[in-house]
Amino acid sequence: MSVTPLRLTRVRPGVHRLATRYWNWYLLEDGGRLTVLDAGVPGDWSEFSAALSGLGYTPADIDAVLITHHHPDHAGNAERLRASGARLFSHPADAPYLRGERRMSNRGVVKYLWHPWYVVYMLRQLAKGVGRTPAVARLDELTDGELVDVPGAPRVVHAPGHTAGSCALFLEDSSMLFSGDALVTLDMTRGRTGPQIIRGAWTEDAELTVQSLDALAATNAQTVLPGHGEPWQQGIRSAVEIARRAASS
Ligand SMILES: [Zn+2]
Ligand SMILES: [Zn+2]
Repeated sequence: MSVTPLRLTRVRPGVHRLATRYWNWYLLEDGGRLTVLDAGVPGDWSEFSAALSGLGYTPADIDAVLITHHHPDHAGNAERLRASGARLFSHPADAPYLRGERRMSNRGVVKYLWHPWYVVYMLRQLAKGVGRTPAVARLDELTDGELVDVPGAPRVVHAPGHTAGSCALFLEDSSMLFSGDALVTLDMTRGRTGPQIIRGAWTEDAELTVQSLDALAATNAQTVLPGHGEPWQQGIRSAVEIARRAASS
């Protein structure tokens, strides 16, 4: 077993969370077909495949992978899933990074390296191959407000700031919001838990991230499933309120 194992848990029928201690991705089942929300890191692959087969599926059953934003810990297996037949989607603002045409800056990371928690987190990701996330060969676009025609039919909520193309994905019927890194419940610098925005090294525009919380709150989702941290069951509005308070303190 890996140092940072990936575990599958059922959030509700047809919605599964693929979680390590530090990052999450998700799986939607609909009529025997699958959509994957984000794509973990490359070293998650064997545990992901095992989890899929435990549910009675193979990668060929995955119709689509929706990538909330271009960071490599959210796209690690995207190209591999595309090669096995899935369509990949992202917001066009993040597409050049995913296609390997643009590189993100690592400059901001240095000033966080004195946080031991952050160092462990980065080492865990590196050990699972985050630095080997391959560029993707083909991408379709996510558009703000669109109901994406893939299994589970999530609605796109563009929430820029963490990256320009950051999107949350909303399941209206079950009132679940997959918030990516637009709102998380785990602080990757110190390990503190609870709803918050990411202000650390990887956020492009923290002020815009705070403004985008309005778009998340407008869904009035009951359950929030973030890219990092535990699910939040007390509604997006309370999560946004707490995140705003934390961001202004
Ligand atoms: Zn991110
Ligand atoms: Zn992330």
